[in-house]
Amino acid sequence: MQNGIRKTVLPFVTNDLFSEMERIYSEEGKFSDESLLALHAVCGAPLERALEMLEKDCVTLLTTSNDIRQALQFFALQVSGGRGELYTLLPNINFCPCLAYAHQVVSARTHVTCKHVLAARLSQMMGRTVRKEATPEEVARILCLAAHADKGNELL
Ligand SMILES: [Zn+2]
Repeated sequence: MQNGIRKTVLPFVTNDLFSEMERIYSEEGKFSDESLLALHAVCGAPLERALEMLEKDCVTLLTTSNDIRQALQFFALQVSGGRGELYTLLPNINFCPCLAYAHQVVSARTHVTCKHVLAARLSQMMGRTVRKEATPEEVARILCLAAHADKGNELL
């Protein structure tokens, strides 16, 4: 498929796990060891890196305050990588423009997702995202990304 985007389906168990983790976090203020181990069994090493990334508050929630774009509030996430790179992700979509995603998820299929997607999902559950208003240029770029991702990706 074009642009390196190919349909990737997360195991069904992942959504159940995320729901369970969200519930536990809202009740206890932390994830249980059991749920983290279960998620690790599905996601592997990228989960370990995602948890390290969460220590650094690496996820930014891009928002818009313009009335016309009201429906798009909280419409994208930006995750900063270890070397200052910035990856833009769409909420609840299993796609990331990073190299690891292209190699390990799309090509080799050795992993179900990358550390950025996991870090974004977990930090949303934890309410540990920094909010930032998107510039018009960012809005335009992200809408293009959304159009691409919409062609072939499953919900996370
Ligand atoms: Zn990634």
